[in-house]
Amino acid sequence: MSREDNIKYMFESDRIWPPVGFSAKRQRFMVALGNVLKRLPDDAFEHVEDCIDFIVDDIDALALNVPFSRTFPAAGEVTISYDQIIVFRTAFLLSDEALVGLVAHEIAHSIVCMDNHAENEAAADATIEKWGFGEELAQLEKEKRTSVFGQTSG
Ligand SMILES: [Zn+2]
Repeated sequence: MSREDNIKYMFESDRIWPPVGFSAKRQRFMVALGNVLKRLPDDAFEHVEDCIDFIVDDIDALALNVPFSRTFPAAGEVTISYDQIIVFRTAFLLSDEALVGLVAHEIAHSIVCMDNHAENEAAADATIEKWGFGEELAQLEKEKRTSVFGQTSG
C-alpha cells in the first residue's frame, strides 16, 4: 500500500475520535493531520500507525468512551484492549446530578456494545437505568436539551 492508501485507511478506521460527525473543527483537524502524515519520515509514520490514536474535542461531545485495541503479531498475536473515557470541559456545565448520569453512561458503553450509534446510546441508557441511575439519567437528558448544550451526544 502507498502512503496515501495508508492515510486513507487510517481516516476510515476508528483511530480518530469521535468516529462520527464532521464539524468544521473536525475537518480542519483532518486536513492538518493529513498534511503531517504525508510528510513524516517512514519510521515516524509507522509509529503513528502502530501506536497513536487521536481524540478531537468537538463541540457536541460531553464525553467519549474510546476503545483502544492493538494486536502485536511479533509477540505471538497478543491483543491488548481497554477503554479510555475522555471527559470534555463542556461536561462541567452539567449539574452534579447530571454529571453522575454522564459518567455512568460512559462506563455502560464499555459493558454493552451494539452495531450502530443510536442502538448503542439506547443500550447504555437502559443499562444505567438497571444499575439504579434512572434519576441522574433523566436529569442528564433534561439538561442536554437546554440551550447551553443544544444537540449533544456522547
Ligand atoms: Zn453515549
